[in-house]
Amino acid sequence: MNFEFVCGWCGEENVLYGEPTGWWRELYRVPDVWDCWLCDGANTTPDGPWTPAD
Ligand SMILES: [Zn+2]
Repeated sequence: MNFEFVCGWCGEENVLYGEPTGWWRELYRVPDVWDCWLCDGANTTPDGPWTPAD
């Protein structure tokens, strides 16, 4: 499942792939730190709940 995150530097939406994890795969794991595709700024993934992306 993909999740939407907003870059803290430029406000652009970034979609990150959340890898299913946990016994029932009810949890998802995304990178702790990711770089914005637009401005290349480093962002830290916020605590959930996250916004699922289409
Ligand atoms: Zn950005």
